[in-house]
Amino acid sequence: MISGAAIARVANREAERFRAANPRAFAHHAAAKGWFQSVPFHWMRDWPSPVPIVAFSAKDATLTSIDGQIYDDFCLGDTASLFGHSPPALAAALSERLAAMFSLPQWQVTTTASEANRAVIRWCRGISGRAKILTFNGAYHGAVDDAFVDLKDGMPTMRASLVGQVHDLRTTTTVIEFNDEEALAAELRRGDVACVLAEPVMTNVGMVLDAPGFLTTLRRLSDETGTLLIFDETHTISSGYGGHGVSHGPKPDLMVVGKSIGGGVPCAVYGFSTDVADRMAALNAARPSGHSGIGTTLSANALAITAMDTMLSDVITPAAYDRILPGAARLVGGLEQVIAASGLDWHVTQVGARVEFLTCPAPPRNGSEAKAAMHPELEAAIHLFLANRGILLAPFHNMMLVSPVTGGHQIDRLVGAFADCVRALKE
Ligand code: PMP
Repeated sequence: MISGAAIARVANREAERFRAANPRAFAHHAAAKGWFQSVPFHWMRDWPSPVPIVAFSAKDATLTSIDGQIYDDFCLGDTASLFGHSPPALAAALSERLAAMFSLPQWQVTTTASEANRAVIRWCRGISGRAKILTFNGAYHGAVDDAFVDLKDGMPTMRASLVGQVHDLRTTTTVIEFNDEEALAAELRRGDVACVLAEPVMTNVGMVLDAPGFLTTLRRLSDETGTLLIFDETHTISSGYGGHGVSHGPKPDLMVVGKSIGGGVPCAVYGFSTDVADRMAALNAARPSGHSGIGTTLSANALAITAMDTMLSDVITPAAYDRILPGAARLVGGLEQVIAASGLDWHVTQVGARVEFLTCPAPPRNGSEAKAAMHPELEAAIHLFLANRGILLAPFHNMMLVSPVTGGHQIDRLVGAFADCVRALKE
C-alpha cells in the first residue's frame, strides 16, 4: 500500500528537481505571455511538470529541451511522431505578432478555421454556462454543426444541404437576419445566449455589409446582456490590416482567423481578451482533468507555427494592404464603368480587398435579400465566360479578391473580359 504522503513526498521532490534542472523552460513560459496559459494549445498544460517541457529539437525518438535535457521520447506527440521526429522549429515570437496585429492579448492555435470556431463556441458555452449561440441567416463558419441553421420564410430551419445531420440544432442555435437590431435585442435580452458568432461583414451569402451603427449596437447589446461577441475574421481579414474589427471596429471578445494566415499550410488561430482568458483559466482549474473536447492532436504543430510566423512577419503586412486597396479601387472603378455604360441595374460592393458585382440594383441588407438577389444561371454563365478567357473567380457568388501581387494589367484584363461578357449577354 502506497500512502498519499509518500506520493506527495515523491511528487514534491521531483517538482523541485525539475525546477532546478529547467530554468529556461520557466523563463520561456514566463515570457510567452500571448499564449493562453503560456502554450499555443491548452493540452500541453496537462504534463505534470511544473511547466511544460519546451522542445528545442527532436530527432528520431529523442527530444532535446531548451534546457539541454535529453529525453528518450515515448510520448512521440501522442502518435503524431510515431514514425520519428524531424526537427521542429520553435517560433516563440508568433503570439506577440498575433497580439500586435489583431489587438487581442491571448491566443490558441488550431488546424482549421472550422475547428477554431468549434473551439470558441465550446469555450463560450463553458465560461458563460449558457447553451445557446446566435448566428446570422446565410452565414457560413466552416464545418461547424452549430452554425447550420437558416431562416426560411422567417422560420429557423436546418440547412437542407447538410449531410448526415441528426440533431435538431435549432434548440441551441438562434438565427436572425443580419442588420436586424430589433431581433438582436429581443434574442440577447432573454439572457440565455452564450455568444454571437458573426462575420463583421457577411461574405458567404454574397457580401452583406453592416448597416451604419449595426456593429456598434451588436457590441453594446452583447455587453449589456453578458453575451460574448465572436468575430470570425477568416474572410474579413481582407477588410484591412488586422481584419475588420481592427480596421473598422468594434472590438470583439474573441476572434477567429484561418486560411490565409498559414499561406497554404493548414492552420488557424483564435484570440481573446484578458477577461475571457481569466474565465477560461478558472473553468480549466475547476473542471475534472480529461478531455476538453477542444483541439486535435496536431493543433499547433511546428509547421503551422512556422508558416504563420513567416506570414505575419513577411507577407501579411500593412504594406501589403497598401498595395491591395488601390488595386481593389481600380477594379471597382472599372466594373462600375462597364455597368454604367451597359445600362444594367447591377451594382458593385467592396470592403478592402473583396469586391463583388451583384446582378441586382440595391445592395442586400441581409441573408434573405442576398439569397433572393442571386441568379445562379447568370452567375455560372459569367464565370464560365471569364474562365474561358483565363480569369478565375470563386465558383460561388461574384466575389473577387485583389492581392498585393495582383498586377494592374490583370485587373484591367478582368474588367475588359467582364465588359465583353456583358456585351455578349445583351446581344
Ligand atoms: N469561417 C468562414 C467565414 C469561412 O468562410 C470558412 C470557409 N469558407 C471557414 C470559417 C472555415 O474554414 P476551413 O474550411 O478552412 O475550416
